[in-house]
Amino acid sequence: MKITLLHHTPLVVCANAIRTCWQSFDKSDHGGEKDKELIDRVGNKFKHASTLEHLVYTFYIQGISRALLQELARHRMASLSVKSTRYTLKELKHEAPFTASDQERAEKYLVFTGIEIVDTMSIQALENLRQVLQSGISNDKAKYCLPESYKTELTWTINARSLQNFIGLRSDKSALWEIQNLAKALYDHLPEDHRYLFSDFIKA
Ligand SMILES: Cc1cc2nc3c(=O)[nH]c(=O)nc-3n(C[C@H](O)[C@H](O)[C@H](O)COP(=O)(O)OP(=O)(O)OC[C@H]3O[C@@H](n4cnc5c(N)ncnc54)[C@H](O)[C@@H]3O)c2cc1C
Repeated sequence: MKITLLHHTPLVVCANAIRTCWQSFDKSDHGGEKDKELIDRVGNKFKHASTLEHLVYTFYIQGISRALLQELARHRMASLSVKSTRYTLKELKHEAPFTASDQERAEKYLVFTGIEIVDTMSIQALENLRQVLQSGISNDKAKYCLPESYKTELTWTINARSLQNFIGLRSDKSALWEIQNLAKALYDHLPEDHRYLFSDFIKA
């Protein structure tokens, strides 16, 4: 998978939101150590967590499976714009037939597990889909035989409060392995000065 952080809110915006409550704007150090301590104290320690909603992150996430997408979409406090199979399946139509030995070529379309029998069956499903498309069936109908391993990508926007919840739940070893990888990769792609807000939530 590939993660790109497209945009994030500077910490000073959250500090100003907090300072609105006490009108203590003159105490701000414009997103420096004083503001960082304030955000952690109010947002995390005092559990006035709605203040963390002023920090928003937009990621471009590529190369995840539709199995992962299904779990990601359960996080309601986030916004998703996902690559549409209805409009993009034609990319597969002009491919040569896939056989089990075409793992490298198939990797453009599939997330592999490293388990041989699963990955071979995935390639077989990809080949089935390619044949359906070649026979002239529309994307709208052909998509019903997509394997869950089929790769997708999306723009994902989430605020810091919800991202803490996501990272806490999904970096845990009880979560799906691929979403664990995503949670850890998202953490790694956070701006360095924001990471401290999430370090208590990430599981090793
Ligand atoms: C290990 C694991 C296993 C799972 N297994 C399954 C499974 O077998 N089947 C399944 O269906 N799902 C499963 N899930 C998904 C899980 O039930 C949640 O849908 C998902 O983790 C999103 O969490 P969330 O509701 O906290 O996040 P969000 O939807 O982003 O919500 C964020 C927070 O907002 C609040 N909130 C949001 N909506 C409401 C509401 N309607 N009422 C009150 N408060 C609300 C809650 O505090 C919530 O934590 C699993 C999740 C994990 C981590």
